[in-house]
Amino acid sequence: MTRVCVSVCEKTVDALESAAVRASEWADVVELRLDCLDGLEGFERVLERVTRPVILTFRPSEQGGRRELDQQARAVFWKTAPRTEWWDVESDLTVERASSNIIVSHHDFAGVPQELTQIYERLTAMPAGVVKIAAQANDIVDCIPVFELLDRARFEGRELIAIAMGNSGLATRILGPSRGAFLTYAALEEDSATAPGQITAQKLRSVYHVDQIDRDTMICGLVGLPVMQSVSPHMHNAAFHTAGVNGIYLPLEVRDLHTFIKRMVHPRTRELDWNLRGLSVTAPHKSAVLEHLDWIDPQAKEIGAVNTIVIEDNQLIGFNTDAVGFITPLFNTLGLLNGLRVAVIGAGGAARAAVWALLKYDSHVTVFARDVEKAGALAEVFDVSYASLSSASFADYDLVINATPLGSGELIDQTAATAEQLHGARCVYDLVYNPIETRLLKEASKAGCKTVRGLEMLVAQAKNQFELWTGQTPSWNVMHDAAAAALGQ
Ligand code: NAP
Repeated sequence: MTRVCVSVCEKTVDALESAAVRASEWADVVELRLDCLDGLEGFERVLERVTRPVILTFRPSEQGGRRELDQQARAVFWKTAPRTEWWDVESDLTVERASSNIIVSHHDFAGVPQELTQIYERLTAMPAGVVKIAAQANDIVDCIPVFELLDRARFEGRELIAIAMGNSGLATRILGPSRGAFLTYAALEEDSATAPGQITAQKLRSVYHVDQIDRDTMICGLVGLPVMQSVSPHMHNAAFHTAGVNGIYLPLEVRDLHTFIKRMVHPRTRELDWNLRGLSVTAPHKSAVLEHLDWIDPQAKEIGAVNTIVIEDNQLIGFNTDAVGFITPLFNTLGLLNGLRVAVIGAGGAARAAVWALLKYDSHVTVFARDVEKAGALAEVFDVSYASLSSASFADYDLVINATPLGSGELIDQTAATAEQLHGARCVYDLVYNPIETRLLKEASKAGCKTVRGLEMLVAQAKNQFELWTGQTPSWNVMHDAAAAALGQ
C-alpha cells in the first residue's frame, strides 16, 4: 500500500489550517509540523478541517525542527497533545500512548551513519508501531543502506519509514513505498519542503505515479549533476504512462560515477536488487561513462560521448541519441540536408555531436567559438573550418546552429547572433530549449530565417532512448507536451 504524507509547516494557525486543507487533496496522510508555529494557541481547530489521518510532530531544532525545545518542553507538550492517528516522537523521548500510534524517529543531517542497523535495532526495540529513520545522502550510493533497511524491515514484518534525504536520496522517496516503506513524505508546494530533497505530492503522483510502482516496475533514470531541474522525467514518465509500460524514470544525482556504476548499476557487481534497465547520461558524465561500458555503439564511440545506457544480459551497452535527435528536426524543417553550409556556434559536447552528424550529410561546417583555440581543437578532430565568434557574419550560411548556453539561464537575455548577423542565412537552429522561444529564435525570425527549436531535439533524442529501452515507439506528442508543460509553456 502506498501512502503519501504531505508535511505542512506554517508560522500561524490560519496558514497551517489553509495548508492542511489543501494538503488533504493530495495526501493520504497529513503531517502537521507544530514546531513551525510561532505560537501553539488554537492549533487544535486545524484538526477539525483535515479530512485525512494526521501525524502530529513537534520537532526540536537539533533533529531538524524549526524550534528550540528542551526535553521538558517536549514532554509537557505530548502530555496534553490531542489524539491523532499518529504522533511522531523523537527516540530520545518516551510518551504515554498506545505504541501503535507512535512513530519513533531518528534524524541525521550529516550523512547516513555507519551504525544505521544498530539505530534500527534500538528503535525497533522501543514501544512504537512505526520506526522512522531519515539520514542525509551525500551521494547516491547512500541510498543502498536505506533500501537494505527497508528490505530487512519487510522481512521482519516491521513498519519502517526510511529516507535518504537530499537530492541524491530522491530514489528512496519515490521507490520507498514499492519496497515496503510505511509512507513517503511530500511537500505541498515547490518551496515548502520540510526536509531536504522532498518533492511535491503533485509530482510524486502525477509525474512519478508513485502508487503504481511495484517490484516489477522497470526502472530507468537520468545520471548527472545537477539533474533536479531536468524535464526528462516529465517526458519519459508521461511516455511510460501513456504506452501502458510498467516503467519509471528517476533523476539520479551522481557525484562519483565509478562507485555508482559499480555498486548500483552493473548487474555483475551491484549491491542493490532493483529492476534497473536503462539510463540517460548527462553532464558531467557523458564522456567519463565510456570506460564503464561493456559495449559501445560505433557512432557513440566516434562522437566520444554516450548519453544512453541499456542494461541487458548482465551488460552495459552505450549509445548516443543526441546525434539522431539533432538531425530529426532538421529533416522535418529543411528536407534534404546534403551539402549544407553550416555555422556551428560553440565548441562543447553538443557542438561535437552536431558536427559529427552534419558531416554524415557532407555538410561544409565552420565552428565558431568565443575562444578560437577551442574552436580550432574541435575543427581539427573533424577536419572542418573554424573562426572566432566575435563580429561574425552568417549571411553565407544555409544553417546557423547555437550550441552554447547563450539565451538560457543567467544568459537568457543574450543571443549567439543578432538579426543583423543572421540576415541572409536560411535557417537557425537553437539547441537551447529553456526557454523554448529564445532570443536567438526571435532574432532569426526578424531576419526572415526558418527556425528550429531546441525542444524538438530534446524530444527526438528522448524518444530514441525510450525505443532503446522498451522496444516501443512512444508518442512524440505526449513527450513534447510533457516537456513543454514542465518548461511552463
Ligand atoms: P558545453 O559542453 O559546456 O559547451 C558549451 C559551449 O558554449 C562551449 O563552447 C563554451 O565555450 C560555450 N559558451 C559558454 N558560455 C558562452 C558565452 N557566454 N558566450 C559564448 N560561448 C559560450 O555544453 P553543451 O553540452 O555543449 O551544451 C550547449 C548548449 O546546448 C546548452 O545550452 C545545452 O542546454 C544545449 N543542449 C541542448 C540539447 C537538446 O536536446 N536540445 C542537447 C544538448 C545540449 P567555453 O569553452 O569558452 O566556455
